[in-house]
Amino acid sequence: MLFSELVEFYEKIEATTGRIEMTNLLVDLLRRTPPEIIDKVVYLTIGEIYPPFIGLELGVADKLALRAVKLASGMSEKEINQAYSKLGDVGLVGEKMLAKRTQATLFMEQLAVEDVYSALEKIAKASGEGAMEMKVQILSGLLASSQPKEAKYILRIVTGKMRLGVADMTVLDALSIVFGGGKETREIFERAYNLSSDIGYVAKIAALEGIEGVKKFKITVGKPIRPMLAERLSSAEEILQKLNGKCIAEYKYDGERMQIHKKNNEVWIFSRRLENITWQYPDVVQMVKTNIVADEAILECECVAVNPDTGDMLPFQELMHRKRKYDIHKMIEQYPVNLYFFDALYVNGEDLTIKPLLERRKVLESIVKIDDKVKISKAIISSDPKEVEKFFNEAIEAGCEGLVVKSIGPESIYRAGARGWLWIKLKRSYKSEMTDTVDLVVVGAFHGRGKRAGSYGALLMAAYNPDRDVFESVCKVGSGFTDEDLAKLPELLEPHKIPHKHARVDSGMEADVWFEPKIVLEILGDEITISPIHRCCWGMIAEDGGLAIRFPRFTGRYRFDKSPEDATTSKEILEMYRTQLKKIAE
Ligand code: ATP
Repeated sequence: MLFSELVEFYEKIEATTGRIEMTNLLVDLLRRTPPEIIDKVVYLTIGEIYPPFIGLELGVADKLALRAVKLASGMSEKEINQAYSKLGDVGLVGEKMLAKRTQATLFMEQLAVEDVYSALEKIAKASGEGAMEMKVQILSGLLASSQPKEAKYILRIVTGKMRLGVADMTVLDALSIVFGGGKETREIFERAYNLSSDIGYVAKIAALEGIEGVKKFKITVGKPIRPMLAERLSSAEEILQKLNGKCIAEYKYDGERMQIHKKNNEVWIFSRRLENITWQYPDVVQMVKTNIVADEAILECECVAVNPDTGDMLPFQELMHRKRKYDIHKMIEQYPVNLYFFDALYVNGEDLTIKPLLERRKVLESIVKIDDKVKISKAIISSDPKEVEKFFNEAIEAGCEGLVVKSIGPESIYRAGARGWLWIKLKRSYKSEMTDTVDLVVVGAFHGRGKRAGSYGALLMAAYNPDRDVFESVCKVGSGFTDEDLAKLPELLEPHKIPHKHARVDSGMEADVWFEPKIVLEILGDEITISPIHRCCWGMIAEDGGLAIRFPRFTGRYRFDKSPEDATTSKEILEMYRTQLKKIAE
C-alpha cells in the first residue's frame, strides 16, 4: 500500500467535523488496507507506532524535526524558522518547504506504508550517545523521499502531533463494521481490545482470522488488560440496595493503581493508563518476585507511599516523588511503598476475569505471601449498612479515601475496561453537596483579557460519553488557576490546537480556540444545573437542555494519569445530578 493513499485519507479525515463521517472514512480505509499491514496503518492513523504499553516513543522535538526539514529541503534556517513562527505546525512547515525544495524529485520512487513505518521504528529505537543525530538523519532521509503532503503527516506523527482525532474507540467501531458486518458486533471487538489494550493487534487478528479469531481472543501476559472501574454513590445504604443487599467492602487505598504481570522471573508494572512504569519501581519488582507464588500471574494492587519510620500510609501526593528519572534508589529509601492487592485476573494459564469476585479473591489469597509490605486489601463481607458505615470510618481513620464496595453475586466477574455497578466507591467527599470533584477534558479555550491577556481566560471543559464516543461540553472554567497555571496552560495546550471544533466534541458554546481532547483537569463545582448551552446528557433531563456544572473551579490537579476517555462520563454527571435532587428533596 502506498503511503500517499493513506495520506489521501488523512486529508479527508482532517477536514471532517463529524464523528460519523470520520468512522465512515475509517471504514473505507480499513477495507482497502492489506491485512498484513493493517496493524501498522491503525497505529499510524492514531499517531503512534506501537501500543502505548510498549513505552517506546518517537520523542522527536519540533526543533529536531525542523533540522531534518532543513536537510531534506535545502532551504535556509531563516526561511524555515520564519515559516514555523507563522504556521506553528511542523507538519505545515515541512509541507511548504518540501514543495520548494531544490533537489530534483522527478524520478523519486513512491513511498510504501512499510517504508515509512520502518523508518519511524528506527527513529524510535535510536538510543544512547548520538541518538538525536541519528534520528535527524533517518528523518531527513525519509522526508527527502516524500511528497510535501506525505511529509506533513510524517512530521506530525514523529513529533506526536497527529491530531486527526481518531482514537482507539473510533477504530473499534470501524473494525466492527468492516470485519463483523455491523456495529452490533462491536462488543466482540471491544472484549478483545479490553483484554489486550492493543488496537493494532485486534485489527490484525480481525483482518487475518475474521470475527471468529476475535471471538477466541486470549489474555497474554505482558499485554495489559484494561482496568475495571467503579461507579459512585453517597451512602452505604444506597450501595447495598444496588448490590442486592450483600457486598464485600474493601478499603479504597489512596495510591497508584498497578496492574502487575509476572511470567517466571519477568515482571511488568502497568499504570492505570496502562503505561509501562516498571522502571520506576525496582522495589515493587523485587516484592513481586519474592511474594507472588505463581509462575504466571496478572494481579491488581494499589501501591501506597508509607512513612519509613512508622509504616503509616501517606497520601497519594507523596508517591509523586517516585516519578523521577534519576536517583531512583535514593527515592526508594525516602519514599518506600506498600502493596495492597485487590484482584487476580489471570493465574497460571487460567483466565479469572470470567470468575466471580470471591473466587478470584481466594486465588489471590493462595498466591500472595503476606508480610509487612505486601498485603491483600482489607475487607469485610456484609449486608448491614451500619456495619459498612463503621468500616468506612475505620478506612478513613487508617488514611484511605473510603471504600470500594463490590458485588459478590454470580455476576461479579472482572469487567475489563468498564465502569459499572459491580464496584461502587464511597468516598468522604460524596457525603456533602457537590464538593465532589470531576475529571474533565479541555476541548476549547477563550482568550484572556486584562491580567490574563496573552494566556487563556477560561477553558471549555467536557465530559466523555462512551456510548457516542464524543466529548460533551459541561462548563467553562475560569477560576482556580494560579499565575503558574496561567503561564503553563498555553504551552501545555499548544500541541493540541486544531483549526476547528474537533469531530468528537459536542459543544453549544463557540470557543476562541479549539483543541483535540487530550488534557484532563480535576474540577470542583457547586452544583449541577440544567443548561440551554452545554451538551452533556442533552435532552435526557430537559427537552432543550443539557447538564452544566455551576461555579466550576480548577483544583490544581492535572490528571496526566488519565487519558481523555478516562474522564468523568456524562452518565456519571447525570447520576450526580440525580443524587443532588434527592438530597434537596430530603
Ligand atoms: P478516583 O479518581 O476516585 O481514584 P478513578 O477514576 O481513578 O477514581 P475509579 O475506578 O473511579 O478510578 O476508582 C477506583 C480506583 O480506586 C481504582 O482505580 C484503584 O486505583 C483505587 N483502589 C484503591 N483501593 C481499591 C480496592 N480495594 N479495589 C479497587 N480499587 C481500589
